[in-house]
Amino acid sequence: MELFEIEILELPKDEILDALINRIDNEKRTFVVTANALIMLRVAKDPEYRRAIKESDFVVPDGFGIHLVGKLKHKRDIPRYPGVDIMRDLLEIGKKRKWKFYFLGAKEEVVERLWKIYKDQVNVVGYHHGYFGGEGPVSEIVSLKPDVVFVAMGAPKQEFWIWRNLEKFEKGLFMGVGGSFDVLSGVKRRAPDWVIKMGFEWAYRFFQSPSKRWKVPFQIGEFLIRALLYREEKAGNEEG
Ligand code: UDP
Repeated sequence: MELFEIEILELPKDEILDALINRIDNEKRTFVVTANALIMLRVAKDPEYRRAIKESDFVVPDGFGIHLVGKLKHKRDIPRYPGVDIMRDLLEIGKKRKWKFYFLGAKEEVVERLWKIYKDQVNVVGYHHGYFGGEGPVSEIVSLKPDVVFVAMGAPKQEFWIWRNLEKFEKGLFMGVGGSFDVLSGVKRRAPDWVIKMGFEWAYRFFQSPSKRWKVPFQIGEFLIRALLYREEKAGNEEG
């Protein structure tokens, strides 16, 4: 599905995962975006961010908002593959394939906890928190030559970091994973499955920190309106 000039993948999870595995095994430098309503709203409004996302290799539908737009606009069921699930699946596959992982982002104690959980199961070559100035530990990460780098600094910070630094690497799959380190380290709980299935994960997160996320319901509303009007807007522009 095309939305705000971005092509969002419409493939079963297995096929997406196979494509990512292939890129990692073939040492092809890869930038993966896990798109939700907030990311796509920023794409619609911020030309620089749009450029960054356009230059990514895969835009995977993460959030329910995108699924809903697929249903309402195109009458299609776009399978969701949330970033946290992709991260879990890649870690599992990477165990056997001996991939080198790097964890970048979240608070120091969170990323350290994540590293402790995974260090004996997978080859985690390094980690660093996500509160740094400039480009942070990029030269260290380059020298470690990781196969997979998970970047958990929230949008847009994580995508901009990947976009600016990708060229410095010879290989590796880079993926922005938002709050996944908090979830996989056990610091924050993910919504129950039934809430996720109903499309209300955003509401669950909203109630976890309403003062920080008070804008989110409005942003989701704005995203849905913009997304549903998108083609009409374009047609209008072409006419005018
Ligand atoms: N984060 C970070 N650096 C920052 C801001 C946020 O590493 O400058 C981390 C934060 O600790 C959390 C993750 O990014 O683990 C996601 O943050 P948030 O929940 O604000 O973003 P969202 O998941 O909504 O994209």
